[in-house]
Amino acid sequence: MKTYIVGNWKLNFTVGEASIYLHKLMKALPNYRDTEVVVAPSTIALQPLSLQVDRHKIKLAVQNAFYRDFGAYTGEISFSQLDGMVDYALVGHSEQRYIFGEDDKMIAKKVAAAVRNHIKPILCIGETESERAFNETADVIRDQLIGGLSEIADDDLDEVLIAYEPVWAISSTKVAKLATPDEVTDVVKLIKKTLSDTYGKKEAEKVPILFGGSVSPSNAGAYLTVPGVNGLLIGGSSLILSEFVDIIEIAKKVQS
Ligand code: PEP
Repeated sequence: MKTYIVGNWKLNFTVGEASIYLHKLMKALPNYRDTEVVVAPSTIALQPLSLQVDRHKIKLAVQNAFYRDFGAYTGEISFSQLDGMVDYALVGHSEQRYIFGEDDKMIAKKVAAAVRNHIKPILCIGETESERAFNETADVIRDQLIGGLSEIADDDLDEVLIAYEPVWAISSTKVAKLATPDEVTDVVKLIKKTLSDTYGKKEAEKVPILFGGSVSPSNAGAYLTVPGVNGLLIGGSSLILSEFVDIIEIAKKVQS
């Protein structure tokens, strides 16, 4: 399986800054066949960047979109409008869940809308600090995983990626703590078991699992060697070009 290195730029960079970053990133990267490098800029930058990007080197992702294809939904954009412009979509990111009130029902519709429009959803799941403290991690992970996948046909499971992002480890969280590789191992095991129990072992094995939460060049290698982890979702560190390139190079080394 490929290794996925996904940069989530969140609400950062003007369109011009995003374009300069992309230009520099393309220059810095050789064509890595086994590493899928993906960046998720602000939606406003996607159209120009889609004309600029060399898709052999880098793929684009949207950070969020609405689940209806068209209609009276002021302020929204649809996955159908993004069809052909992006290859991936973040769905259910914790900032959407906890700042904008997205629930598993809406997330499931977004996962289905992405798949319907030929975009691979990266379904983000993860427990909060208090859920972990109350030993609810396993229940939360199972609910978010099965809930988020509930609107797609079993056959479409191989279109989906899962990102495990403990909310307490995300750098924008007030008291972000680093997840230990052992903590990540346990949850990745649980994700694999849940997928396997629900869809069968063979199908479950096809689903890439990414880790995200304060990933930087100093810990990327440790997370990438956690059994079952196929890639990283990176926020803060992806905004610094040299750090993002370092992480991609670490991924390459871990693979070989
Ligand atoms: C994220 O928001 O998806 C994320 C992982 O952020 P950071 O790397 O900054 O913790």
